[in-house]
Amino acid sequence: MRARLDHLVVSALQQGAAVPAFTCYDFTTALAVVEAAEQAGRGAILLVAPKTAATPNGLRLITALRGLADSAGVPIAVQLDHASDLRVIADAVAAGADSVLADGSSLPYEDNIALVREARAVLAAQGHADVVIEAELGGLAGDEDRAFGADATRPLTTGADAVTGTAGLTDSAQVEDFVSRTGAQLLAVAVGNVHGKYKGEPQLRWDVLQDIAVRTHIPLVLHGASGIPGEELVKAAAMNVGKVNFNTELRTGVLATLEDQTPLHRADGENLQGLLGKWNASAKTFATGALATLTR
Ligand SMILES: [Zn+2]
Repeated sequence: MRARLDHLVVSALQQGAAVPAFTCYDFTTALAVVEAAEQAGRGAILLVAPKTAATPNGLRLITALRGLADSAGVPIAVQLDHASDLRVIADAVAAGADSVLADGSSLPYEDNIALVREARAVLAAQGHADVVIEAELGGLAGDEDRAFGADATRPLTTGADAVTGTAGLTDSAQVEDFVSRTGAQLLAVAVGNVHGKYKGEPQLRWDVLQDIAVRTHIPLVLHGASGIPGEELVKAAAMNVGKVNFNTELRTGVLATLEDQTPLHRADGENLQGLLGKWNASAKTFATGALATLTR
């Protein structure tokens, strides 16, 4: 069923839980996530990568995900992830996305604020003032779509680091000003989390997260959750982290399954249908685990 992403997240936080968001590059994965959410009786978020949304086929995928979300038995939101291109934002919302991460985190501070405000204005002009906007403050190391080892303390090459001056971590002193001027409904933070794989053990900066949490009432978002132990994710929910994004581990699981199962299914009469069943099972198992972890 249709659900406002911010309402979904706030109601989870009120129960001491967080809502998982899963990157869906394809429909098979999205079906698995929705099945897992329905069986758990919990809401979930389908994320679409900006590179996906920048193509005509990607926009068709968003429309298909909209239909899937609306027909689900639990609240499901469809969010455009990490978008900095206003055209992609407008197209994705027109195609059916009901929330957007307007991501100016690689820009200088004032430009980041301007991007979020422009995104809001473009959507309002389109008749979509109700779209939920997440903004990001602080730069995350790593590549969202491809997993290489990333170090949260390594300076970023994008320039975000040079702007914040704190190795990409969110500057908690900017939070109140940023939230009030952007009007963002959720805030993605950089507190030692990275996209992709962690080099060594993830070291979340609880002190920074705590500092951020006392400065704003809007829900916080943790990207790059793959590799962070479940108990830490549960602890984060107590600090107002109400949305947790998963991508790398989901992909890793699906790819390992396909690598393992492809020869068997080729031998079994080129059985693509059977192989897609294994893909679904892998994604569903992962989504079920994430839903259970964030509900504890
Ligand atoms: Zn992300």
